[in-house]
Amino acid sequence: MWKNIRVLCLLVILLIVAVNAWRDQNQNWDKPIIVLLHPINADDQASTQQYIQQLSLSDLAAVQPYLQQMSAHYRGQPIHVYLNLGRELTQKPPKVPEQANMLDIILWSLKFRFYDWQQHERSDGTSAVTLYLNYYDPERTRELKHSTALEKGRIGAVNLYASKKQNEQNQIVLVHELLHAFGATDKYDAATGQPLYPQGYAYPKQQPLFPQAKAELMAGHIPVSADKSKMPDHLQDTLLNEITALEIGWIK
Ligand SMILES: [Zn+2]
Repeated sequence: MWKNIRVLCLLVILLIVAVNAWRDQNQNWDKPIIVLLHPINADDQASTQQYIQQLSLSDLAAVQPYLQQMSAHYRGQPIHVYLNLGRELTQKPPKVPEQANMLDIILWSLKFRFYDWQQHERSDGTSAVTLYLNYYDPERTRELKHSTALEKGRIGAVNLYASKKQNEQNQIVLVHELLHAFGATDKYDAATGQPLYPQGYAYPKQQPLFPQAKAELMAGHIPVSADKSKMPDHLQDTLLNEITALEIGWIK
């Protein structure tokens, strides 16, 4: 009797986990998508604090029209995506392990999901994704560590610069990570940072291949030649190619 109840409990838990995982991997793009953003003073600087205090959605104004334009191109109609600036958090998300093995990554992703569960009051239950925005003063941090987003759990830790001058770059990083949360994969060579051909190219069929006018957003850089690339200045200098559109479910 007790054994049967225990087995039943386990089966119910497994079913809930499976349903959640399926839901996280199959976004219904006809529904409105709410992206909750929590800014964090990641380097404990007064300058960073100042930036966060005056931060508003107007600093991220390019994100919504970009996603509408890109989705309309592939779906025939735009998605309805809304950014929602949540409260500043004092507790920092767990640090992404460097030179990590598989176990480190599994442990980190569990810690991150636990952190998300602690921070995030899902009382309204409407947010599709939560991004934790770690802000750093560019005067103190020359190079930002890699941002990470998890498709399972729909959460991301995004490293950004606490500077108005970096708003354009910040928006590129933010949308890149947001699309990871919907299943898009990186399209650059991890060793060199170069866009992979053809999946990391905005116009892989262009003749001649170089120069490319835009970056594929999940590759992050505009290929200038077979072994050189440059950073895009604006979100409008990037696009999502068909492979990324397929990964996130904009084309079937
Ligand atoms: Zn990435």
